[in-house]
Amino acid sequence: MTTAPFIHQSLPGRVVFGPGSLAHLPAEAERLGLRRVLVLSTPGQRGLAEEAARLLGDAAAGVHDRAVMHVPAETARAAFARVADLRADGCVAIGGGSTVGLGKAIALETGLPVIAVPTTYAGSEMTPIWGMTEGGLKTTGRDPRVLPRAVIYDPLLTLRLPADISGTSGINAIAHCVEALYSDTANPMTSLMAEEGVRALASSLPQVVRVPDDIAARSDALYGAWLGGSVLGTVGMAIHHKLCHTLGGTLNLPHAETHTIVLPHAASFNRDAAPEAMARVARALGVSDAPTGLFDLAVAVGAKTALKDIGMREDDIGRVANLVMRNRYHNPRPVTLEDVRALLTDAYHGVLNR
Ligand code: NAD
Repeated sequence: MTTAPFIHQSLPGRVVFGPGSLAHLPAEAERLGLRRVLVLSTPGQRGLAEEAARLLGDAAAGVHDRAVMHVPAETARAAFARVADLRADGCVAIGGGSTVGLGKAIALETGLPVIAVPTTYAGSEMTPIWGMTEGGLKTTGRDPRVLPRAVIYDPLLTLRLPADISGTSGINAIAHCVEALYSDTANPMTSLMAEEGVRALASSLPQVVRVPDDIAARSDALYGAWLGGSVLGTVGMAIHHKLCHTLGGTLNLPHAETHTIVLPHAASFNRDAAPEAMARVARALGVSDAPTGLFDLAVAVGAKTALKDIGMREDDIGRVANLVMRNRYHNPRPVTLEDVRALLTDAYHGVLNR
């Protein structure tokens, strides 16, 4: 074995993991010296946000249940106003990537600390990446201020995540791991985490979908999500994330389903350019060919496999391809406009180039 030279930069952070760990929330808020916490959620998770506020007791200033996907700028501005009205000194974001994203927007604007309590497998809680959408364009950036100061992973909170969302959300986390393995900034530690993330998720997701309240499978999936978020926050991503970011921001396609559909095609595109990464993905999936294994996993969790089935129109392919080519980014295989059009056409129809 030869270890190639590398640079690894760890991010600060604190993780509390385990069934029932939501009970640690008051202690985590106290550790950060918070006295007036605003609890953020989507409208659908208001009940859970209220439970978090009850646990916080006097340290809770209110509940704001307006989070929506991709952080529309007007949603962020309404949340900034609420923070100012309540003179909040920090936020708890309890929910999926949309809620954590709103917490990050508040942190970016105000510098207030965020405690994240993730209830999906998106992984945003482990990254310093923020996003905001205005006029059909999603802008993202990196800023250490938005990285949550503490993350509470409680598998019990994921038991009610519907089976279909669980499957695609888990594959979203696998996508972070796959691209981390062929990232130009990958290093031995992130690659260990990424391979383990694929293994933890691929082995648990079919069971999560079959028996959504299986705590052991839910714990393994959330563990994989933590690993996926960690590598997403540490190393650069490639064509897959660029495509999904553009499809989500421009066409407002659902985030996790989009990742699930595009991933096998992105992996197939990069298969020959990143043989070592593909071998590790295949090993973690327990198959001989990574793109095929990723496609089969999507089918096994009952996910849709074609962009045409989640709201994309065929004449969007050209527009999205042009946008994807606008900025340069690393990918193991050089990318041309024609390549992107072909990849999107395959993903649109759900036909994998095996
Ligand atoms: P989401 O947060 O939009 O959640 C999907 C739906 O599931 C919501 O209606 C939510 O209320 C519901 N839900 C969540 N957890 C639940 C639970 N346990 N039980 C029942 N219902 C539950 O979806 P997501 O896929 O987690 O997040 C997507 C967003 O996160 C996108 O905007 C994406 O760009 C962003 N994201 C950002 C990063 C980053 O690093 N910045 C990383 C990943 C995702």
